[in-house]
Amino acid sequence: MPRINRWLLALLLLLMALSGCQTAPKTTAPSAPSYMISVDQLAVRLGLHVSFTNGRYVELTNSANRVVIFTHPGGSVYVNGENIGQTGTVIMEGSTVYVSQLLLPRIRASLKTAAPITPSPRYTPSPSRPSGGQTVVIDPGHGGKDPGATSYLGYYEKEVNLKLAQKIAWLLKKQGVNVIMTRNNDTFIELNERPEIANRVNADLFVSIHHNSNRSRSHHGYTVYIAPNASEASRRAGRLIERYLAQTGLSSNGLRTNDYRVLVRTNGPAVLIECGYLSNPSEAANLYDGNFQNRLASAIAQAILEAL
Ligand SMILES: [Zn+2]
Repeated sequence: MPRINRWLLALLLLLMALSGCQTAPKTTAPSAPSYMISVDQLAVRLGLHVSFTNGRYVELTNSANRVVIFTHPGGSVYVNGENIGQTGTVIMEGSTVYVSQLLLPRIRASLKTAAPITPSPRYTPSPSRPSGGQTVVIDPGHGGKDPGATSYLGYYEKEVNLKLAQKIAWLLKKQGVNVIMTRNNDTFIELNERPEIANRVNADLFVSIHHNSNRSRSHHGYTVYIAPNASEASRRAGRLIERYLAQTGLSSNGLRTNDYRVLVRTNGPAVLIECGYLSNPSEAANLYDGNFQNRLASAIAQAILEAL
């Protein structure tokens, strides 16, 4: 009797595996309707390749572009961090994902032209402080071989740190601020080198950009850090950033102290921002969204301008 049950169970599991646990009829596999296209074909026609796939999303990339297609109902398509709308109907046949052909022109319209990869020269800050204006060093955390946290949606902290930092830098430069980035591409930079860059240019403010992560998905909100022995100028900048970030709709975990190396080794005012939790599904989606990043960048830039 138990032996028969085991056989029945094995048979049932085999049938489930063969049908891919989908609602597909067991006799013949259905072929996707003609207006659908497999993501592999989609990638080929867009000059991209499928670089990652799991049950939740497919990532297509080339040297200049990153397309993320979320496959759950109501999921969106992101081209280089910008949400270009909903994915629409998705059909899964075994491991093949089919999407509407209509995505083809929509994605194509948002792609950047893939150029041959030319390594951008590593930034070396000028030894003396640039004349005129105030100098702010923006430090996108991690980079290169150090990805930082991995988001619930699969992307890396180093990517969103850089995106956000570049947006902040752009806003500050528009206001005449001298902005120096510790990295402006996906480069690995030693932890000690980051405050060193700020010290070499005698920066008026050093702002390190990070995103948080926790084993619990429920952790959320931003946290602003200063060194335990922070100067009044650091404290003031920290308070301003903490206050301005509330505009974004993220909840605040307050201004805290921590002896992060980038904070304690910087001679001038220094602040580190954990912009939200990549381990929280809804926050991870927001933090990857270009428009939301603009809001964050604007709040941080306003606070920096007031702090200077
Ligand atoms: Zn980090």
